[in-house]
Amino acid sequence: MLTVYDARVRQRDFLLEITRALTAQLDLAEVLKMVLHASVVMLAGEVGLIALRESGASFRVRATLGIDLKHLSELSSYLADLLVNEDGTLDNETLNDQLKLLGGMLNPKLRQSVALPLMVANEPLGLLVVFRQHRGTASVDDLQMLQSFADQAAIAVHNAKLYAQVEQERRRLSAILQHNADGIMILNTQLNIMSFNYALEKITGWKASEALNQPVDRVFQWERKDEGDLSGAIAEGFPFRDWDEEEPLYVQGDLTRKDGSQVSIGITYAPLFNRSGQWVNLIANVRDVTNFRRAQELQNIFVSTISHELRTPITLIKGYASTLNRDDVVWDPQTLHDGLTVIEEEADRLNGLVDNLLTTSKLQAQRQLDIHLDATNLVEVIHRAVERLSTQSSIHQFSLLFPPDFPTVQADQVAIRQVMDNLLSNAIKYSPSGGLIEVGGQFTDDKVIVYVSDQGIGMSKADQENLFQRFYRADSALSRKTQGTGLGLYLSKAIIEAHKGTMWVDSLYGQGSTFYFELPR
Ligand code: ADP
Repeated sequence: MLTVYDARVRQRDFLLEITRALTAQLDLAEVLKMVLHASVVMLAGEVGLIALRESGASFRVRATLGIDLKHLSELSSYLADLLVNEDGTLDNETLNDQLKLLGGMLNPKLRQSVALPLMVANEPLGLLVVFRQHRGTASVDDLQMLQSFADQAAIAVHNAKLYAQVEQERRRLSAILQHNADGIMILNTQLNIMSFNYALEKITGWKASEALNQPVDRVFQWERKDEGDLSGAIAEGFPFRDWDEEEPLYVQGDLTRKDGSQVSIGITYAPLFNRSGQWVNLIANVRDVTNFRRAQELQNIFVSTISHELRTPITLIKGYASTLNRDDVVWDPQTLHDGLTVIEEEADRLNGLVDNLLTTSKLQAQRQLDIHLDATNLVEVIHRAVERLSTQSSIHQFSLLFPPDFPTVQADQVAIRQVMDNLLSNAIKYSPSGGLIEVGGQFTDDKVIVYVSDQGIGMSKADQENLFQRFYRADSALSRKTQGTGLGLYLSKAIIEAHKGTMWVDSLYGQGSTFYFELPR
């Protein structure tokens, strides 16, 4: 038997060892094993166990000493019957009954059990039990000693639980951060990048491994800033202490990506404060706003060109109509005729414009145009278009060059007429000094090709590449003067493609252009 002094020294040694294990590692199983070993040795017992409460009320054995593993499932079923009182303590009656049964089952010689609940903040986390051969009840000293170990085990269990929760939370946050569709980064107070998610790699072209620990200004190189400025805001005191009431800082502009290309982005910065109210991090949410900006730009162009385009024919129609309508003048037939012709032409132009707008909005809504194919004599449709448009100019000559056996094709007559109207009116508009406008066709076994050529201003290679885009207008002195929406070629190409055909242009700057389309037979 140990003397009281020896016992105290050993108890202190054990406690030291356990505390060291507690602070050195977060391995719960290891700490529980140590606690149990110390408890059994100090109480001169033979057998011991630690059971922890699982979710709900049930107990599960987490550490054993001197117990044959084959008894484990029985142990668990005895422990399942333990009751927990409302105040969180264990019901002593069931506890004693169950422990007696348990001890008997393990070894009939185990006549005494000493048990203590593991408690943290009144919450029973588990149970520490030591069985021994003495008869009678445990002494106050025994219980005190066991309590000192039980407290250590309780702390370890509590820590492990907290650690598991924190770890779970950390993983959840990291998953949200990493897989968010928006770019997210975290900056420290020196404005160095501490975290950089996958979406940001795509937006900026920088790999996370390259961007981490870099100053934010190095990775985010602005070509142009439209709104907000991080360094400026910080110089003015951002983030303010009562930041919650302030607007988040928003910075928007064009960024130069790592490969030199550009992207429009918007960044929202939100600060993270520590307990004493100092900011420790900025959490930045980065969004690619290129499409949004482009859509806004298109909408602006749309509104301004359309209103401008509508105003011109309306003004002409209104002017001619009210002039011809004057009561105090009698107009000679020629003037009357000329005035009415202008009105008719301008009304036609309005009509064409509205057609183009409707087709554009259909195209935007459905991506592909609906067309109604019929056996179509293209030469006839084209002839009618030329006849109508040739009246609009006295300085152009028109020539039609189709082989006599030019085949009929499956096409949508109304749509093809719209294409021809666009090509012909462009040929007139963009050859202001007149000249020859030639419309012709060729065919092979499986396709027909139609072209419209003019001797006008032509266009640069760069313009040829962009011409078929919505709202695109080549920037020249002439196009600035001439009316246009930049929709005609975009729609014409879409119409031809809906026929499974193609459209392209061939042009020399200053010498004229030829537009081609090809349809399958
Ligand atoms: P717009 O309404 O401006 O004429 P389009 O889509 O029909 O719109 O044409 C787009 C741009 O292509 C025009 O603004 C013009 O700059 C250029 N373009 C079209 N046709 C010709 C042509 N025959 N010759 C020279 N430039 C042309």
